[in-house]
This record gives sequence, structure tokens and C-alpha cells, in this order.
Amino acid sequence: MKFIYFTVVLILSSLTNISFAQDCSQVIESNDAMQFNMKEMRVSADCQNLTITLKHVGNLPQQFMGHNWVLSATENMMPITGVSMQAGAPNYLPESDERIIAATDMIGGGQESSVTFDLSSLDPSKDYTYFCTFPAHYAIMKGSFIIE
Ligand code: ZN
Repeated sequence: MKFIYFTVVLILSSLTNISFAQDCSQVIESNDAMQFNMKEMRVSADCQNLTITLKHVGNLPQQFMGHNWVLSATENMMPITGVSMQAGAPNYLPESDERIIAATDMIGGGQESSVTFDLSSLDPSKDYTYFCTFPAHYAIMKGSFIIE
């Protein structure tokens, strides 16, 4: 009986370890209706590095319904959407802009793209927002990025 109890505890603790590992890697989906499948993303402050994988589960090509996942301080979102428009097709993202904390590639239906960045350098008390920089998409395609 004791042996079974310890086995269960061991299994539970290994499951906990697995879920901790998964917290440092999150998947978000986007679609042909210009939407992300999450209004907010919560990530663990225990993660040194975080990997975000963006999937486009739609069918439309990148030039009509392109999506990316871009992270910045909330106050920088509007300026970044402006310079992204100027950067133009196909990526709609400036080559280098220090206000951009992380960004995936711009993708079309059926594709996916990942980005890994240093989460530990961010301040959990600040407001961060993720969004898509394809023209006009940020109006709907945005969400709160919460470090907890
Ligand atoms: Zn988009």
C-alpha cells in the first residue's frame, strides 16, 4: 500500500515537472477570420526563455490573410503598427526596432512559426501586448501578455 502511494506521488511530481516545462513554450492559433484564439496569454515568471509558436489554421495565403505574433510594451503597439505599415509587404515589420521584444515570421494558412526570447529581461509589473502587424489586423488581433 505504501509502495503504491509513493508511486502515485512520483508520477504526480513528474507530471508537474512536465507541465512546468510546457509553461515555457506556448502555442497560439490564428485563422482566416483575422483572429487569435486567445484574448490573453499567461506565462510563468519562472521561465528564463519563452518559446511562442504561432499556427495559422486557415487556408488563405499570406498576402491576403498574413499573421505574425509580435510582442511589445503596450504603449509601443500603435507606433510599431505604424512603422510596420511603412515597412510594407510581405513581412510588414521593420528590420530592427528595439521596441519589438519578439516577433515570429509573417505566415499564411497551414504554416507555423516560432520565436524564442529572453523572458527574464521583462518586468512582470509592466503592461505588454501581443498583436499582428498585417495592415489593420491589430484592431482585432491583439491580447494581453501577462507574466505571473
Ligand atoms: Zn494577421
